[in-house]
Amino acid sequence: MNTLIDRFLRYVAIDTQSDHESESFPSTEKQKDLSRLLVEELKAMGLDAFLDKDGYVYAKIEKNTEGKKAIGFIAHVDTSPDAPGKDVTPRIIKNYDGTTIKLNDTISMHPNQYPSLSKVIGQDIIVTDGNTLLGADDKCGVAEIMELAKYYTSHKEEKHGDIYICFTPDEEIGNGANRFDHDYFKADFAYTADGSEVGGIEYENFNAATVTLDFIGKSIHPGSAKNKLIHAVHLAMEFHQLLPVFLNPAYTENYEGFNHLTQIKGQVEHAHVQYIVRNHDKDLFKQQKDEFLKIAKYLNDKYGYKVVDVDIKDSYYNMYDIIKDHMYVIELAKQATINQGVAPKIEPIRGGTDGARLTYDGLICPNLGTGGYHFHGRLEFASINQMEKAVEIYKEIIRINAK
Ligand SMILES: [Zn+2]
Repeated sequence: MNTLIDRFLRYVAIDTQSDHESESFPSTEKQKDLSRLLVEELKAMGLDAFLDKDGYVYAKIEKNTEGKKAIGFIAHVDTSPDAPGKDVTPRIIKNYDGTTIKLNDTISMHPNQYPSLSKVIGQDIIVTDGNTLLGADDKCGVAEIMELAKYYTSHKEEKHGDIYICFTPDEEIGNGANRFDHDYFKADFAYTADGSEVGGIEYENFNAATVTLDFIGKSIHPGSAKNKLIHAVHLAMEFHQLLPVFLNPAYTENYEGFNHLTQIKGQVEHAHVQYIVRNHDKDLFKQQKDEFLKIAKYLNDKYGYKVVDVDIKDSYYNMYDIIKDHMYVIELAKQATINQGVAPKIEPIRGGTDGARLTYDGLICPNLGTGGYHFHGRLEFASINQMEKAVEIYKEIIRINAK
C-alpha cells in the first residue's frame, strides 16, 4: 500500500476550485471540504490541527530537540479555475514507456509535443481522463506534506526542530497569502511545496505591476471631423506602438521582462487599456514603468491636453531581493536535494508565488518541486516516483537542520 498515493487520490477526488469572480474569502466554500479532511487526518496523527475562520489549516509538530530552527511547509488546497476541476478521474500508468498517452478519444499527449513527458519515462505517473485537470497543483504538495507529518508523528526517535504546517486556500487567484496567520506560524523560514519537477528550488520571481491607461478622445460627427476628431482607441494604438517592441511577452524568456497587453476596450470618447509589467530586475522593472509615464507625457504634450491618464499599481516583488541575505535557506534545500540523489534545478519563476508575498511579509519562503507537471489543464500529470522523492527531500531538510 502506498499511503502517499492513496492520500493524493483521496484529495484530488474533492473539487476545490477557487473562483476569481467571488467576493467571499475563501472564494469557494468547497475548498474547506478538503481542508476539513486534512484537519481530521492531522488530528488522527495526534496533532493539534485546526481550520481557522479564513479557511487556512494549521498544525505544528513540536520539536524534540533544542536550539534548532523552526521550519514551515506550505501548500495550497485550491485548484485552478482555468480547467474543469470536478469529478477528477485519475489513472495510474506504471513504468511509462515514452509512447503516446491517450487520455480519451480526443485528447492525447506525446513527449515530442510535451517534452516534460520525456522526464518521467520509466516512472509511474498519474494522468487525467482528459475531461478535467488533475489537481497535482497543488495536491502533490498537500499529500507530500501530510506524508511528512505522518512520518514525524510516528517516528518520534527522529530529532527535529519545530515543524509548522499550513494549507492555504485561494492561491490560484492570488490571494493565498492574504490572511496567512503570521502570529501562529512562527517558523524561522518555510518552503512552499508548489513547484513542478522534483529537485526544483525557486527563489526568484517577477516584480509585478498593473498599468491602467484611460484615454480621452474628442468626439465629433465623422462627416465634419477634419482636424477635430481625436479617437480614444487610436490614441491607445499610438501608445502601444511607442512601447518597446521586444518587451512583448511573445519575444521573452528566462530573465527577460515584458509588458503584456491584457485588456483593451473603448470607443471614440474613451478607451480603457490594461498592461501587466514584469521583470526580475528591480531597476529594469522601474525603467519599464517609467516608460509608460514618459509615453503618456509625450502624447499629452503632443495633443495639448491630457489625452491619457496613467495608473500604476505594484502587485508583488521578487523574493530574491530579500532571500539573497538569507541564502542558507536555499543552501539547506540544495544540500537536502543532493543528499537524496537529485540534482537541484534552479530556475527563475516567470510569475509570482504565495511564497513571494509571504517573504515580503517576513516569512522567507522559496518554492520546492513536487513532481507535478502541466499545471492548470487537462494534460496535468504527476510522477509517483518524484512525489516520493519530494517527501524524502523535505525529511532531509529537517534532518540536516536537526544536526
Ligand atoms: Zn500551485
